[in-house]
Amino acid sequence: MVHIKIQLTTNKKEKPAVSKLGFGNFFTDHMFIVDYNEGKGWHDHRITPYGSIFIDPAAKVFHYGQTVFEGLKAYSTIDERVLLFRPERNFSRLNASNERLCIPAINEEKALEALKRLISVDREWIPSEPGTSLYIRPFIIATDPSLGVAPSKSYQFIMIMCPVGSYYEGGIKPVKILVEEQYVRAVEGGTGAAKTAGNYASSLKGQELAEKNGYSQTLWLDGKEKHYVEEVGSMNIFFKINGTVVTPALNGSILPGITRDSMIQLLKSKNIPVEERKVSIEEVVEAYHNRTLEEAFGTGTAAVISPIGELKWKDERITVNNGDIGEVTQMLYDTLTGIQNGSVEDSFDWTMTL
Ligand SMILES: *Cc1c(COP(=O)(O)O)cnc(C)c1O
Repeated sequence: MVHIKIQLTTNKKEKPAVSKLGFGNFFTDHMFIVDYNEGKGWHDHRITPYGSIFIDPAAKVFHYGQTVFEGLKAYSTIDERVLLFRPERNFSRLNASNERLCIPAINEEKALEALKRLISVDREWIPSEPGTSLYIRPFIIATDPSLGVAPSKSYQFIMIMCPVGSYYEGGIKPVKILVEEQYVRAVEGGTGAAKTAGNYASSLKGQELAEKNGYSQTLWLDGKEKHYVEEVGSMNIFFKINGTVVTPALNGSILPGITRDSMIQLLKSKNIPVEERKVSIEEVVEAYHNRTLEEAFGTGTAAVISPIGELKWKDERITVNNGDIGEVTQMLYDTLTGIQNGSVEDSFDWTMTL
């Protein structure tokens, strides 16, 4: 058992209407914080009222981006239980990101215990309408007030939470994607496999370009040859080509998505062929031309599944399944969201009751 000091707020916030939630705009009444100092380790685990934190302007996180984060959700079931989806995976991935960024490891069991306590304190913030959930953002920042480029000797590990609405109002809808030709998100040997701020800062320019051209997301190609498909926005990507579902193999520059892993396991359990391997953009274009490109979708915690209705690469405009949601895409969405909200039996043992 981890000792957590709990200071409850005396000033509870009003809860926003579900229709106003959107994604990541409103935060619950409390947050979790634990400090790290060299020699002392992680200490002073506490739950406090949600609010500003005071950090020295010289803190390394502001200058050199030494920071990592996670994203997971808690769901309220129809029989009023609270479910977490594979949360232990998020804390082990946080430690993998920590390792890459020279941040000391957290204790994964203690972090999960702290998260459960935080959720139970703010339990009334978990929305229960279909498609809604409580999004949880654990993150670690380097707090040393010193401008030398070196790993920090002090950190804060914080968890904040926000009630979020359904990602797509009125069900999932196919999106249009621009294949990025100029910028890259990550390279072999870089930090692409870690959930760290710099990857997202460097992706903004491509995202802005895509939006200017009427596309909602960027499809990133590999950083070396701009030849192989890597990720779409901040999601992993899948194609169904001639009956087989293919997704780029984890190569060190792709984020190992927990939704991605779950989709692969679901497909296998349904006896749908699935392959993790290199997928070139030319292969996708060719499949489109010979009519074997059947479905395409992105996966991630926030949206679960984003069906792809159109891809634009150079002068090629590739429509997928006439811009409609594919059969396998819909099945995966229904099954996974069903497991997450407790309406479909969890034969994988993925959910954890609070
Ligand atoms: C978080 C993230 C994903 C999806 O991971 P999940 O564990 O499925 O939420 C994919 N790509 C990037 C770049 C991400 O940051």
